[in-house]
Amino acid sequence: MTGPDRRSQVLARFAQVFGGEPSHWVRAPGRVDLMGSHTDYNQGFVLTMSIDRDIWIVARPRPDRVVAIDSINLGERVTFSLDDIQRDPAARWGDYVKGVAHVFQAEGYALHGFDGVIHSTVPLSSGLSSSAALEVATAVLFRDLGGWAIEPLQVALLCQRAENSFVGVNCGILDQYTSVHGRDGCAVLLDCRHLTGQATAIEPGIQVVICDTRFKRELSGSEYAERRAQCEQGAAILAGHHPEIRTLRDASLDQLDAHAGDLPDVVRRRARFIIEENRRVLDLAGALSAGDRAAIGALAAASFAGARDLYEISVPAMESMMAAMLGAPGAIGARQAGAGFGGCMVAFVERDRVGQFVPAVRDAYRQSTGREPHVYPVSASAGAGVLAPA
Ligand code: ADP
Ligand code: MG
Repeated sequence: MTGPDRRSQVLARFAQVFGGEPSHWVRAPGRVDLMGSHTDYNQGFVLTMSIDRDIWIVARPRPDRVVAIDSINLGERVTFSLDDIQRDPAARWGDYVKGVAHVFQAEGYALHGFDGVIHSTVPLSSGLSSSAALEVATAVLFRDLGGWAIEPLQVALLCQRAENSFVGVNCGILDQYTSVHGRDGCAVLLDCRHLTGQATAIEPGIQVVICDTRFKRELSGSEYAERRAQCEQGAAILAGHHPEIRTLRDASLDQLDAHAGDLPDVVRRRARFIIEENRRVLDLAGALSAGDRAAIGALAAASFAGARDLYEISVPAMESMMAAMLGAPGAIGARQAGAGFGGCMVAFVERDRVGQFVPAVRDAYRQSTGREPHVYPVSASAGAGVLAPA
């Protein structure tokens, strides 16, 4: 959908639902991790990229303390009072907006009621973090309506808190950080302990392509919690020998090997994946900016092999997609994205071959699974902010 079409669609929806025109326009992007699966909650590194798919909220302040918000994507509306914020199991999506309101209010920020319309080009529940985009867009809107200033990092942290404590998803900081701090035209090397990001170039001949398996990530909630607990257990056992180890970010493969017998087998495999994956993040940052195709391919392949064999977050649809991506013209490397268990994957492709890569992946994946994938190039877009009115 082109920019003007999208603008007319949200304006028409706003006029239809609330009458008149919105006065505030904000946006927040989705993201894709180029390397670093499950490293964020181990306080490690992630090479992340905010993408040119985003959530828009267009809004107009209300005189009262009511928030009325309509999602074009879902065709549903949620209304609540800022003086009585309650979860609603019948409209879970509203909890992301309410959670942000709840957390920012608890921190002392003055919030304003509004009528708003959401429109998103981030696919929902596919691993590109539509949830963080929704939270961050909501926060930016409250900030602008309230006229207060806030540090960008604080926005990311409070949105993460909203998802952790109000929505009830125990996510790390990756998604919210990227939606706030994403950079136009480059990836970001995120240090999840120090919460610092370093802009990282991608050699211009390399195109990032999202390959969505469209296999729903159903197990991801419980499996995610289990992986987190296993990582914590691994770090705690290693800390018994090396007190400086606070999380797996601090552990080396040598330390893991030296104490392998102390760790249950499954915990040892989880820990090995995280320690290796963390190293791959730093290596991929160098390889992507240098355009070292062989290194990119090898690092991405090792990441997927570890995700499948050690961290066990792969499903058959992802293996079919890996084969489709690697067999397509122009493929440099490919791996999982997001938390795994289906959803989106990511490929690094020769820019001048993308036109052949995309249909080849579609055909191969369709043939092996009977499922129609979504395959599309993405580029790095700026982090969340105000969207200039048309
Ligand atoms: P992901 O963040 O990978 O897209 P999640 O399961 O974390 O997947 O978050 C998806 C949820 O976020 C949706 O089920 C919905 O509740 C909410 N959400 C995301 N985008 C929208 C939208 N455009 N309109 C309404 N709710 C949305
Ligand atoms: Mg999410």
